[in-house]
Amino acid sequence: MKNPPKILICDDEEGIREALKLILSDHYDLILTKDGDQCLDCLAKSKEIGLVLMDIKMPRVNGLEILKQIKTNYPSLPVVIVTGYKSVETATEAVRLGASGYIVKPFRSEEILATAGRHC
Ligand SMILES: [Mg+2]
Repeated sequence: MKNPPKILICDDEEGIREALKLILSDHYDLILTKDGDQCLDCLAKSKEIGLVLMDIKMPRVNGLEILKQIKTNYPSLPVVIVTGYKSVETATEAVRLGASGYIVKPFRSEEILATAGRHC
């Protein structure tokens, strides 16, 4: 049987990581990371990731910086930004930098599932 598609989640808030896990874990293999270092480390180790769901506001390195690095190293890997409503301007900046789209927190599970379905 084919393995389920793999999604890499990067968010510093445990509650968000857990919420995404509840929504997605029935259909996808998930890798949960809490900062940019972990995220880039997992990307370097796993070749089968089909989608990255990325927070913007995180300590040390913010999501835009991680997005730039992902787009440099893995140009075809889709990255969707998941961010607070106060960061919508930053989210549109993220799209300019190559993000495939963005989802505004608080999100509904249907939005997350539809986005995952579109990309992997
Ligand atoms: Mg955050």
